[in-house]
Amino acid sequence: AARGADVDKWVKGACRFCGTGCGVYIGVKDGKVVAIKGNPDAQTNFGFLCVKGFLAYKCMYHPDRLTEPMIRQSNGKFKKVSWDKALDTVADKFKELHKKYGKDAVAYYGSGQAMTEESYTFNKLFKGGFGSNMVEGNPRLCMASAVGGYISSFGSDEPVGAYADIEYSKCLFIVGSNASECHPVLFRRIMRHKMKNPDVKIIVCEPRKTTTSKIADLWLPVDPGTDLAVFHAMAKVIMDNNWHNERFMNENARITNGKETFDIAAYKEFIKDFTPEKVEKLTRCPADNIRQAAEWFANSGASTSLWTMGLNQRTRGVWANNLIHNLHLITGNLFKPGADSFSLTGQPNACGGVRETGTLCHLLPGTKPVTLDKWRSHIEKEWGIKPGTINPKPGFHTMKMFDSLGGEKDTSKPIKGMITCTTNPAQSLPNLNKYIDGMRDSFLVVIDIFPTRTTQLADVVLPAAFIYEKGGVYGCSERRSQLTEKCVEPMGNAKPDVWIAAQIAKRMGLEKLIPWNSDDSMKNNEMAWSEYIRVTKDTDHTLAGATYSRLKKEKAGLQWPCPTTDHPGTYKRYVRGMDPMFEHEGFQKKFGIKMPLDRQFYFYMDSKGEGKANIWLRPYAGPAEVPSAEFPFYLTTGRVIEQWHTGTMTMRIPEIARAHPNGYIEVHPDDAKKYGIISGDMVEVTSIRGKSILPAHVTKVSLPGILFVPWHDQAMDRMINFVCNDAVDPGSKEPEFKIAAVKIKRISGP
Ligand code: SF4
Repeated sequence: AARGADVDKWVKGACRFCGTGCGVYIGVKDGKVVAIKGNPDAQTNFGFLCVKGFLAYKCMYHPDRLTEPMIRQSNGKFKKVSWDKALDTVADKFKELHKKYGKDAVAYYGSGQAMTEESYTFNKLFKGGFGSNMVEGNPRLCMASAVGGYISSFGSDEPVGAYADIEYSKCLFIVGSNASECHPVLFRRIMRHKMKNPDVKIIVCEPRKTTTSKIADLWLPVDPGTDLAVFHAMAKVIMDNNWHNERFMNENARITNGKETFDIAAYKEFIKDFTPEKVEKLTRCPADNIRQAAEWFANSGASTSLWTMGLNQRTRGVWANNLIHNLHLITGNLFKPGADSFSLTGQPNACGGVRETGTLCHLLPGTKPVTLDKWRSHIEKEWGIKPGTINPKPGFHTMKMFDSLGGEKDTSKPIKGMITCTTNPAQSLPNLNKYIDGMRDSFLVVIDIFPTRTTQLADVVLPAAFIYEKGGVYGCSERRSQLTEKCVEPMGNAKPDVWIAAQIAKRMGLEKLIPWNSDDSMKNNEMAWSEYIRVTKDTDHTLAGATYSRLKKEKAGLQWPCPTTDHPGTYKRYVRGMDPMFEHEGFQKKFGIKMPLDRQFYFYMDSKGEGKANIWLRPYAGPAEVPSAEFPFYLTTGRVIEQWHTGTMTMRIPEIARAHPNGYIEVHPDDAKKYGIISGDMVEVTSIRGKSILPAHVTKVSLPGILFVPWHDQAMDRMINFVCNDAVDPGSKEPEFKIAAVKIKRISGP
């Protein structure tokens, strides 16, 4: 229907929702967005969209849109105010808190859904303007373990290859990912590849027989959080059968426990106890399945792993990432078409906007740590600020930041004020009961397009423009940055976030630092973007060649490293010589590459300068909580295809809201029988942290003893994050959303 829509113009852009980064055309008629269609030239989606991308524009005109700034009055109610009044209030209060409690009393909590220019601007305002590293973003809750895994294994964040590896793979190993619902357009690419090439093997490792598992040649069912043992067992089978690639290992990897370098014999010794039989007892994964998976993975000729939150949202998320990378490093499944170790991102700009701009408490733009003297000095010089302005000490990670947020009377809470932008922590944090009071009692400023559970706790609400009302860059999972051009004017009095940041800066005497406050959002964005790509031009993430004028012309954005304006972007990183994707037959034709092919650019990053990745010796560690006599079930959570995160936007798209209105709890028939539960009964699910009441869906999708709840439901009594665990991975500080020990009780029935 969108293709034939009656529009005045089609504007090129990116989808607002998941990390796939589908390219879109946005149809505009009479100053309103009226349709969205897939961009056939986009190398992410080749013209296809899922229901969310196709219908995204429908939420833009929902009557709930926030269109005027609001301040909470002493009677607890919000009053609409002018922008001047709202911005003066924010700036005055922040100045006061700064003076009274010090630089770190004010914090910023951003999002992998904010544009790159917005994350860069707020990061600069807080770290360069206020001298506060209390800067975090919700990618800490979803991607931090993948970041930790890439940096500790390869020396640099983000994947080696591209989505195009799917079409060249002979074996796909999908772990902790229900791609069919969470990355539906990529899943379509997987299915199409399988249908055209029936010999391609698909292995899925996860606790539920999801629609992703159903297309697999081999399902590795596991108890939540036990898959580290499966990865070690696969490695053992590979080594025992001499299916490893010793030449590749010697050339490209070192075996390490972080202190010393070991040899292959030490690696074999380390994994010797992970026999498939022992691991079956620990994980519930059949030993024969482990052996078969190892054989296919090692011998396919081109194996690609894909994973998301099932691997990352864990107390041992970094280790789980390392062990997947290990499988690729021991078998040589890297640096060639169809072979990659690929973490899929959940949000559209978690990679580009937060990881690459360093909008986290320990990073600076270019994904380099604040502790690095040389890089701090470089950034201070580029930003034109006094040496020593940027605090060399990292701020607090997300869970600690929210735990440290409180009212002025509470002396135990050092953070007194916070700006949240494009995110809804009052619904999306785990163990919510612990953090809601802090948000309520502190001075909370919320920038968003709709009322949310977080705006209910705010002191000031600032209405933001929707992506298609302001434009900007999103960087998706495959290192690809795409520019969305502004299509229409913002609704009512809503404003672009870069302008909001610049106005706060101006009121705090920081106008020179953040000068992007004109009425032209694309001009502001371009200035912020140009500075960002200049500041980070000497990193392996360089987008120096991806200027706005070039991104406007490119049909499908550009993949970094892209160091110069005549560089085609990079499909494969770490390649010694020509990018093998370019050499592969048909690749240039298929992906429309016309640039000179002798201009490949790569960095082989590693701290010792040997050009080697790390094969880590990581011991087995299970989840923080396991079922007990009192809490006999595992609870795991996830998404459904129609809904996006906390449902703020998708629940306001009528077709989607009708299709999938509320949460539910999946219960295996064996468990349902024991508890006298039938589908439709209301079931209370309780952990040591909190409870939730949901309708039961009795199904064999999960293994017995494992419950599943999607987390988009906004109703207070159905919000599952009251139950989820906030224990964090010691390295990445990512919480273990995916695993909690719980009990259930039937409350009522039809
Ligand atoms: Fe948007 Fe993701 Fe759907 Fe593509 S798959 S249309 S990026 S939500």
